[in-house]
Amino acid sequence: MRLSQMFWVTQREDPAEAEIPSHKLLLRAGYIRRIASGVYAYLPLMWRVLQKVSRIVREEMDATGAQECLLPQLQPSELWKESGRWETYTKAEGIMFSLIDRQDREMGLGPTHEEVITAIARDSIRSYRQLPLHLYQLQTKFRDEIRPRFGLMRGREFIMKDGYSFHADEESLKQTYADMDRAYRNILRRCGLEFRAVEADSGAIGGSGSQEFMVLADAGEDEVLFTEDGKYAANVEKAVSRCADAEPSPFARYEKRETPGTETIATLCEFLNCSPTQVVKNVLYQVVYDNATVALVLVNIRGDRDVNEVKLTNELTKLGDRFGAKAVLALEVPSPEAQQKLMAKPLPLGYIAPDLDDSYIAASKEVHPKFLRLVDRTAVDLKNFVTGANESGCHVVGANWGVEFALPELQVDVQKATAGDRAVHDPGQILQSARGIEVGHIFQLGTKYSQALGATYTNEDGENLPLVMGCYGIGVSRLAQSAVEQSYDKDGIVWPVAIAPYHALIVMPNVSDEQQVQVADRLYRELNELGVETLLDDRPERAGVKFKDADLVGIPYRIVTGRSLKNGKVEVVDRCSKASQELAIEDVARTVKQWVDEAIAPSK
Ligand code: ATP
Ligand code: MG
Repeated sequence: MRLSQMFWVTQREDPAEAEIPSHKLLLRAGYIRRIASGVYAYLPLMWRVLQKVSRIVREEMDATGAQECLLPQLQPSELWKESGRWETYTKAEGIMFSLIDRQDREMGLGPTHEEVITAIARDSIRSYRQLPLHLYQLQTKFRDEIRPRFGLMRGREFIMKDGYSFHADEESLKQTYADMDRAYRNILRRCGLEFRAVEADSGAIGGSGSQEFMVLADAGEDEVLFTEDGKYAANVEKAVSRCADAEPSPFARYEKRETPGTETIATLCEFLNCSPTQVVKNVLYQVVYDNATVALVLVNIRGDRDVNEVKLTNELTKLGDRFGAKAVLALEVPSPEAQQKLMAKPLPLGYIAPDLDDSYIAASKEVHPKFLRLVDRTAVDLKNFVTGANESGCHVVGANWGVEFALPELQVDVQKATAGDRAVHDPGQILQSARGIEVGHIFQLGTKYSQALGATYTNEDGENLPLVMGCYGIGVSRLAQSAVEQSYDKDGIVWPVAIAPYHALIVMPNVSDEQQVQVADRLYRELNELGVETLLDDRPERAGVKFKDADLVGIPYRIVTGRSLKNGKVEVVDRCSKASQELAIEDVARTVKQWVDEAIAPSK
């Protein structure tokens, strides 16, 4: 493509709307344009990048035997009601765009496709002989994200590859899951990304095992905890750890103490001159279930630890049965206004004890009349601990479970693992932290959707059983931007060769110089003929402008028809290392072709 003919508009200044480097650069370099919050146009250069990522994804997916299809984006609410996700997705989380058509039917725009694919399986799969089956698609997804941001990283309309597999048993599912693990690693490696596969929370999608693929970058929204030995890596939402041992308590005798102004653990420990590891902290949450039941949850946890709300949500989901509920719609620390509504009398905030009386809860139809009491494992073994006295300005010291306070029956792990904790698999290993961008997520779903929608098959013995399912997603547009987040410098983007929109860019510093035009045209022809995707900057711009644009757009190899032409040579610059060398004109096409091939070889 000749730049004089290409639709390409760059910006000198950083756009005000962008916060992170990759977003700024993609806007400035003319790759994308914002149309609405979280909605972007992919301009020609970006579309080429997305096509390249998509091609790599297709190749790796097809190699596993998965088959490509395309499912509808418009989905009837009935299917989502069958799975029980309509309310959660359209109202509670509100992530799904929904609409009413002219026939008064409720529809949603697909944020994901478990329901649709399971309905297809229900209608088409009869026998074990049709299994296993794996279908995938590359498609635009819609999600009404609460905080769309960072350009393509968190869009409300974005491209995803999603795949769904069906199996007769767990073992077959595990095989496909392992194939997907390999395929995803291949995809990310081939796209030139530095990444880590981590244990992940399965979230609202449900199911058992799941793993995320994180591109490591400071701007990542996720925190990853990992050990040096490479044996453990997990999303912080899921991570487990052993925390440091509690210090022995200095309080041998149980007594109530006046501790004015000690609402926080820090002020309390300073006042009592003790360690937060000797304190039982009591955190109050409000959970709303899908049947509108509200329960107040009191979590006892060691004073130096925080509650991981993802783990807590999972525990509360398991406890939903007690309230006749299936899912958690919301979990939060009740605001002062909420407390006024929910409580019969003001809470002794900052001084709550594990035995806070149920009479604090205001009588109401929706609100469960008793506290749901959970104790985190970090607090179970504490002896002679400090905790609240249910009275403002007072704590108790030297308390013990089974003596002054009943130990809650529900013992759970809801503590947030943090960097510096010891690893569970080996206490000698210390957890370290890194930021990551989640680009892929693979799940062993099990029978959650097949059971809900009645998708069954007949096994060899003629028994009718629910299909065992897996699902596998990779964010194509997010992946493309994360490549930029991982690879740029002060002058612009540095694309990995495999997904760069073009491989080479020929810059003619002076378009009115006959010789330059002649050599540039020749190289342009030769390179393209060899399959090196090449741009030619034939714009009547100043050389300085052209070089700036060339750096900004990030094409891997730059060829300059400059001063060395008189010696029959051109300058060839590697965008990544900035290393420059002079090559004889007749060697250029072959040499660059070789570099490109080496850089994108699938075995690399
Ligand atoms: P996140 O936690 O970042 O919201 P998710 O867990 O909702 O992601 P999945 O439902 O597993 O994501 O979707 C599969 C992949 O789709 C993700 O790994 C990510 O790469 C991509 N993706 C998800 N949401 C978005 C979005 N709003 N914009 C761009 N890509 C997205
Ligand atoms: Mg999400």
